[in-house]
Amino acid sequence: MYLWLSREHAQTIQQHALDASPCEVCGIIAGLNQRTSKVIPLPNIADNPQQNYHIDDCAFSEVFFQLQREGLSLLAFYHSHPTGDPIPSPTDIKQVTYDDVPYLIIGLRREPSFAAWSIQWDKVTPVDLYIGNQIPFQAEPSFSQVQRIAIIMAVAIAFAFMIILSLSLLPPAPIIITSVP
Ligand SMILES: [Zn+2]
Repeated sequence: MYLWLSREHAQTIQQHALDASPCEVCGIIAGLNQRTSKVIPLPNIADNPQQNYHIDDCAFSEVFFQLQREGLSLLAFYHSHPTGDPIPSPTDIKQVTYDDVPYLIIGLRREPSFAAWSIQWDKVTPVDLYIGNQIPFQAEPSFSQVQRIAIIMAVAIAFAFMIILSLSLLPPAPIIITSVP
């Protein structure tokens, strides 16, 4: 699992977080094939938004179905820690609903810093996060099993063809005349 954000999308999230500080902000990141194409801020309806976040379920459902209509996937959730580091709090861990989607956090305690996490039940593991406009190495399209077999077969056929061709182009064997004395 990894998360790849363009600089512009990271900037959008950072600006959203700075504008709302000292309250936490939240939203989702959507895209296609791990490529981020949209950052969508959502209302934080937590009782105490300075210390917590809770995404408005209605707003989320509406956006989620809209994404499906557009053929986009939910790539990550994001939220901010206006006075903290980008590390999931116990409340963050408790309120996770999608365990197969990374959770991106921006911490504003010092310089704005991002970190992404996979939260499955109470198991929290870091997710590789790339911020930049170049395709990260892991994001380069990899060949499927069928494509790999096709490539190996094409190479084998080409090799066999070369062998047959080079054998057929060999000059005829010289005629050895042995003179009998
Ligand atoms: Zn949090």
